Amino acid sequence: MCGDCCYGEGGIFLAEKEQEKIARFLGVSREGFLSRFCEQKHGRIYIKTGENNFCIFYEKGKGCAIHPVKPARCSLWPYYPANINDKDTWGMAKWACRGINRECSFEEFVMESKSAKK
Ligand code: SF4
Ligand code: SF4
Repeated sequence: MCGDCCYGEGGIFLAEKEQEKIARFLGVSREGFLSRFCEQKHGRIYIKTGENNFCIFYEKGKGCAIHPVKPARCSLWPYYPANINDKDTWGMAKWACRGINRECSFEEFVMESKSAKK
């Protein structure tokens, strides 16, 4: 709920199926969803960030406005490959995200990531 992982210039890209799913959830056409909430960069479709530099779907105090259909990339956090494969990156994530138990070891985090994916 702190929203730190929803902050920053567009890193959330969407697969076509995700675009359709979110558009359906919002009750708009895929085209309408793309023109209002997305931008194209580097050959991919990304969710826009708002003027406050948070993801356009982040609502302070409420969290993600599309939580039930949020992109796979968002659901995956904090178990990003970079955090699982690199102890230093995990170490930084651990201090940046209050959702990660700071008492856990890197090995425990990696184990946890495997059960989270099941
Ligand atoms: S889609 Fe939701 S969870 Fe993902 S960055 Fe935006 S507000 Fe955060
Ligand atoms: S605690 Fe971590 S996962 Fe939760 S919103 Fe903050 S940065 Fe994101």
